[in-house]
Amino acid sequence: MAQIIQKNRLTVEQNWQKELAMSFTDPISLLQYLQIDSSDFAADAEARRLFPMRVPRHFARLMEKGNRHDPLLLQVLPDRKEFLTPPGFVLDPLSEHDTAGRGLLHKYNSRVLMIVRGGCAVNCRYCFRRHFPYSDNSLSKQEFAAHIDYLAANSQINEVIFSGGDPLMAKDTHLADMARQIADISHIKRLRIHTRLPVVLPERLDSAFFDWFATSPLQRILVLHVNHANELSTELVNRLATLKQAGVTLLNQAVLLRGVNDTADAQEALNEALFDAGVMPYYLHTLDKVQGAAHFDMTLDEARALMAEVIKRQPGFMVPKLVTEIGGQPGKTPVDLRLHPLEQSPINHA
Ligand SMILES: *Cc1c(COP(=O)(O)O)cnc(C)c1O
Ligand code: SF4
Repeated sequence: MAQIIQKNRLTVEQNWQKELAMSFTDPISLLQYLQIDSSDFAADAEARRLFPMRVPRHFARLMEKGNRHDPLLLQVLPDRKEFLTPPGFVLDPLSEHDTAGRGLLHKYNSRVLMIVRGGCAVNCRYCFRRHFPYSDNSLSKQEFAAHIDYLAANSQINEVIFSGGDPLMAKDTHLADMARQIADISHIKRLRIHTRLPVVLPERLDSAFFDWFATSPLQRILVLHVNHANELSTELVNRLATLKQAGVTLLNQAVLLRGVNDTADAQEALNEALFDAGVMPYYLHTLDKVQGAAHFDMTLDEARALMAEVIKRQPGFMVPKLVTEIGGQPGKTPVDLRLHPLEQSPINHA
């Protein structure tokens, strides 16, 4: 009996990896699949050299056939605009470097971010890591042992965040082992996973994942990265419901992207669809100013005006915090939504 279960597990685990291996990596074949004319596409396809294309089939199935401006397609399709180099857009906008040893970032007092695994299931054209994709290696046993020592020695840390790349690219046996050792440290209360993988490949939320994550004695938080309502497929929503039933807190972070989700209608639909799926909108990030992604950028005033409209339309609990990441700050920086805060401040009239 145990053997049969073990065998089933293996089959289940292989499903998402097989599906991942069948991803689109050639923009022309993706366009053909979507029945979009690719005759004028050569200059755009060149942008693959800057950052390879990678799109799982599930994500492609959610795109509208024949629509060159589909909001999901725009996030992943190479574009000649990526060659533009306007001032202010740099290779490494967050100057991210490890602060507590290789693969461990301890910027914010109570929580550490652990780079569990490089590489992602999807390559998002707007990604701030596009010029420095981490290697596809998982954290080694020795590196992880050093991280455990660091966590144990720093009692102000109460939360560990699995990040990447995408941490769910790692094997469940590896993740389960790490989660168990982290749970053994008495001052750690929470385990959080930041991932986009289930959005582009819902099969990743399989029984092998469920077995270690949903049953961990820690408070469990899954932060998804959904940018558009169309990304919330039935398959994804069903699997999230199972996690929710097991007491996992589901949150979402999105990035504000011109052409993708830059209207109050798009944001409203996203928040509504997330909440329907039991996921709380958590953060809406402004774009990190990375070279090659300038065509996705919006000005702060555009972002503020958009959020002001969303706040009018939806209950406060459904509206994510608009944040921007500024190097050296003790946390994400909330964007002040008043268009001209100083002029409107009563202190100014004193
Ligand atoms: C974003 C981030 C966190 C998590 O921040 P929260 O505001 O708690 O979501 C932790 N560490 C690093 C380095 C981060 O960039
Ligand atoms: S999944 Fe996240 S880390 Fe990976 S390419 Fe997309 S935005 Fe970047």
